[in-house]
Amino acid sequence: MAAGPRKEVLTGVGVSPGIVSGTAYILSRERMSVNRRDLRPDDVPVEIARFKRAVSTSKDQLEDIRQRATHAIGREHAYIIDTHILILEDRALVNGTLQEIQSSRVNAEWALKRVAGDFIKIFEQIEDEYLRNRRADVEHVVERILRNLLGNPAEGVPDLPHAVIIVAHDLTPADTLQLKREQVVGFVTDIGGRTSHTAIMARSLEIPAVVALGDATGRIKNGDPVILDGTRGIVVLNPDPGTFLEYLERQRRYITHDRELAKLRDMPARTVDGCEVRLLANLDVPDDAQSVLDHGAAGIGLFRTEFLYMNRSTLPTEEEQFEAYRQVAERLYPHPVVFRTLDVGSDKIADAMEKRPEANPALGLRAIRLCLKNIGLFRTQLRAILRASAYGEARILFPMISGLDELRLAKYILDEVRREMIEEAIPFKEDIKVGAMIEIPSAAVIADLIALEADFFSVGTNDLIQYAMAIDRQNENVAYLYEPLHPAVLRLVRHIVESGRAAGIPVSMCGEMAGDPLFSVIILGLGFDELSMIGLSVPRVKKIIRSVTMDEARLLVTRAFDCKTAAEAQETVYAFMRARFPEEITSEGEQIFQP
Ligand code: PEP
Ligand code: MG
Repeated sequence: MAAGPRKEVLTGVGVSPGIVSGTAYILSRERMSVNRRDLRPDDVPVEIARFKRAVSTSKDQLEDIRQRATHAIGREHAYIIDTHILILEDRALVNGTLQEIQSSRVNAEWALKRVAGDFIKIFEQIEDEYLRNRRADVEHVVERILRNLLGNPAEGVPDLPHAVIIVAHDLTPADTLQLKREQVVGFVTDIGGRTSHTAIMARSLEIPAVVALGDATGRIKNGDPVILDGTRGIVVLNPDPGTFLEYLERQRRYITHDRELAKLRDMPARTVDGCEVRLLANLDVPDDAQSVLDHGAAGIGLFRTEFLYMNRSTLPTEEEQFEAYRQVAERLYPHPVVFRTLDVGSDKIADAMEKRPEANPALGLRAIRLCLKNIGLFRTQLRAILRASAYGEARILFPMISGLDELRLAKYILDEVRREMIEEAIPFKEDIKVGAMIEIPSAAVIADLIALEADFFSVGTNDLIQYAMAIDRQNENVAYLYEPLHPAVLRLVRHIVESGRAAGIPVSMCGEMAGDPLFSVIILGLGFDELSMIGLSVPRVKKIIRSVTMDEARLLVTRAFDCKTAAEAQETVYAFMRARFPEEITSEGEQIFQP
């Protein structure tokens, strides 16, 4: 009997916990549907010219890439582009397509797909494995020509027939948002980092995910059976029955543990000696408001409103936004909802907004900077939030504040909108609290000054760490420097909390660090009033907080501050957590992130 496909274990970075199994679906962003169009005899020469143009454009693009690749990775590695150019020059492919357009009088796309199909079949029959695998190169070239024929359409996520695990080179946050939870049980990508917005989206959609696998799209084929362990960052391809059973057992343990945690839902996050921290949830998609409450969150500590602006060609109107915000505010009442104003730019793209390419988008026109340049858009959102504030316990939070000028200007515009609404007799919560996100090092350093003019602080550790360590949070090559316990980060965070305390305003943390149980005790010891995290983390963090005393937490902070390097601090905190919470931290499935 022929042996089945060989089991393979791929290791990446687990960014969204949970264990699932399913069938792989390769999502090629270049893949596009091609329809047949019959031509009138007169149209044939036009179609031939169109195809030749697309081939020549593809060639120019490849030459250009070859030049850049040679520069960047060296001549010997740029050979892959040579292969693509050779395929493009292959007469069987190009002349075959031209003949097909002529003889069958069909559109160029259809003719190319047909001829390429025959071509690919030949590759599939080749015995030599290396040559057989070159089929992917042919597909890439064909896709390139198609893209040029079709004028570069951007591909979204297709409607999928059944439950699958998506395999993609990368997914944008917009793609991730489109994944339908009934169909997609998990996803894996070649690239990506732990705090990229795609990873955050996966966690908030509660879709297990592993990123940074390197070459998942090259190794996994459509239809392959796959087990995905988003907790440990492992993907098993073609699992044998033994492995399958082992993972089923792990999955069972994971689910049982979740059920146990669910019992804490209505209990406060109070330490053994009676200190309480409010645990709130981050909300990315308005529809998830109920699920946040189901996890036992005491409100929404960060509503990322930008997702209302994605996957659409027009901007949301005031009315549309008001409806979405009102529903969330009403659903959560009497719990608070912190509406963070629009934070697009960098990796979060709103298609309806014209955006000039930027060399360093993470350092570019993003969040409050973009709003202060598009005051009309900003005012529309502020009106919608203020109107919704009449229906619940709303607060407003400005993202990416770098200093007092920005905060003052944003507050000035908010005041103008308020005055306008009073004149129009539109009801809103007049004493609405207005906070500043502290996520840029300049703001962290002058937190004492900002605290005097803000009603509350929310520390965005994802960006604070990105900018303090000078690492692009989407770049997996520098992901190792995402070090929440780096002495510089700890000092910045301590200064922010102390500044908030001195000014008498509440301080919250809403970056991913807040939801990682490994950091729960040190965060507690630092003195935060509130933490906001993905819903799934709420019971996990709550369990830890309910098991320690404030003295223990403060002592851990002192010990971490005695460390001179991130590695030392990490070892101190991890050793404490492993000893103190052997079940949560060391047993698989119970820890959201790997140390
Ligand atoms: C952060 O930067 O930590 C944060 C919460 O905001 P975002 O992840 O949306 O940038
Ligand atoms: Mg941020």
